[in-house]
Amino acid sequence: MADIIKLLPDHVANQIAAGEVVQRPASVVKELMENAIDAGASCIKLIIKDGGKTLIQVVDDGSGMSETDARLSFERHATSKISSAQDLFNLATKGFRGEALASIAAIAHVDMQTRTANNEVGTHLKIEGSKIVSQEVVATPKGTSISVKNLFFNIPARRNFLKSTQVELRHITDEFHRVALVHPNIEFHFYNNGSEIFNLPSTKHRQRVVHVFGTKMDGRLVPVSEETEVVKVSGFVCKPEFAKKSRGEQFFFANNRFIKSPYLHHAVVAAFEGLIKSDTHPGYFLYLDVDPSSIDINIHPTKTEVKFDDENTLYAILRSTIKHSLGQFNVAPVLDFDHDPNLDTPYSYKEKGAVIPKVTVDASFNPFQETPVKKSASGNGFRKQSAKGWEDLYEGLGNQDDQNAFSSVVIESESEEQGTLYSGNDIEEHLASTFQLRRKYVVSTVKSGMLVIHQNRAHERILFEKFLGEITVKEGVSQQLLFPLELTFNKQELAVVREIQESLTNIGFVFDGLDNETVKVTGVPMMFPESGIGTVLDRLIADYMEGYSDGSISQAEILAKVLSRNLAVRTGDVLDSESQLMLVNNLFACKEPNLSPFQKITYTIISEGDIDKKFN
Ligand code: ADP
Ligand code: MG
Repeated sequence: MADIIKLLPDHVANQIAAGEVVQRPASVVKELMENAIDAGASCIKLIIKDGGKTLIQVVDDGSGMSETDARLSFERHATSKISSAQDLFNLATKGFRGEALASIAAIAHVDMQTRTANNEVGTHLKIEGSKIVSQEVVATPKGTSISVKNLFFNIPARRNFLKSTQVELRHITDEFHRVALVHPNIEFHFYNNGSEIFNLPSTKHRQRVVHVFGTKMDGRLVPVSEETEVVKVSGFVCKPEFAKKSRGEQFFFANNRFIKSPYLHHAVVAAFEGLIKSDTHPGYFLYLDVDPSSIDINIHPTKTEVKFDDENTLYAILRSTIKHSLGQFNVAPVLDFDHDPNLDTPYSYKEKGAVIPKVTVDASFNPFQETPVKKSASGNGFRKQSAKGWEDLYEGLGNQDDQNAFSSVVIESESEEQGTLYSGNDIEEHLASTFQLRRKYVVSTVKSGMLVIHQNRAHERILFEKFLGEITVKEGVSQQLLFPLELTFNKQELAVVREIQESLTNIGFVFDGLDNETVKVTGVPMMFPESGIGTVLDRLIADYMEGYSDGSISQAEILAKVLSRNLAVRTGDVLDSESQLMLVNNLFACKEPNLSPFQKITYTIISEGDIDKKFN
């Protein structure tokens, strides 16, 4: 039999390698910026267009390359950074595989201009799909400029796989953060579609964090510092009261390299135990320095997963160091006498327990009595009525301490139309009475048995459809604020607000100026609790960012989901009988009453047969 194994041509091998190294524009950004750092740059410019789909350019003032090196740099496994396997155990550079440039050049149009300090003129190279298409001498500043255009031009499947410009921009921004946070001494500029979105002067760690995430960060950081034989820990954690709904600002760096480590993350969370609510995440910027020979970063091509020799010790050190810092800086509640009362949520449950749930008993209620109800021809009357009803439903929400958020609900007297809601449904034509079970379920009777509604999920469904309607039909009613609210956002959050601004306007938000870190809110949707606007917007932004990375569908849908999740009544909320009734009515006025927007069952019916069985 003839030999059948062949060596792949280089450009094919490069394309395959590229699949591992370059997943999206952000991967290119990472590789180019890391090369610039390895080249000893003191100023790095990142220029992108259309989320990197049209252009990614990195300009540095580092060492530059000779003509030969410039050509060689695009060969696979060409690297100046290691020369033997032994070097792998003592890495001081970001790159070492010599794969990045070769991979990028295999799947894009690359233009490089570079000059070393010793040369008067530089080299200008153009490469398309691994082929050098031109090489010229060029007058260029010392350093290197590489621009990457038409990424994935020869792999249509990958190109089509790219997400929206905003999503790609967000990934790029993440990479930019990761690099910028670990090199505060290097000056960074980041231009997107011609406008500068980051201008980071050379500074110290703390100021860099503040420059990246906005001035409000300054008051939130608690320094962390510890030096042991195994590891040197430095950096910051955010005060517990600023823990967020999203995992946004969590950064580990090991030997100046951004890493992901679920295990060490757990150590941080453990240090915050008891200080933050279980569904919130602490912010942190932690820099670990370990002996390079005790860390293996070679286990993944994109190099964010690492292996430490002694993870258990690291865990223990990290946890106690952070605990210590939190205590020392008076942020643990026991030590801090005038802290933000929001922190006390777990304790305030004591007071909550004292509220006696209102039980309304309808003495005339007889579940076996069928009350005849007149039917009317159309159900539309109800929908209108319920829409109005929701404005009432939210009165009183402004006072967040108000256990019975719905106490001020004004219910319309049960009109004849209401009866029509359930015709053709399994729901009983006349809803005689409802009650609340364990502050979690609303129970009522229906023809075939007992209706049990999950109050939180049902309300989520109702609000979801309401918001979705408003966003698409643009019919949200706005309530003007007497005193405009000033909210501070960092650049990334601001970008999200801009992205979703139209939808927010549709549901009734009015913004005044979105250009700098402070955003003025002059109007909010009708039923919004004024005191909670800041919190809800923060969560909205956080959840929205997460929703996108989850790959959820449309912007309107994500927003409606987030709003419904954040504004729906919760398990534990007491509902008076009118609110209960309204919940039932509005749920069954929904298009899809069965499921919450998060695909959870909203209600169930326990049939008479089921109940009968229990008595057998
Ligand atoms: P690696 O970074 O793993 O060595 P790359 O493919 O990213 O591999 O780069 C190959 C080589 O090209 C590097 O080792 C370096 O010598 C050179 N190089 C790449 N980018 C730059 C730059 N911006 N300035 C100077 N030299 C560079
Ligand atoms: Mg590299």
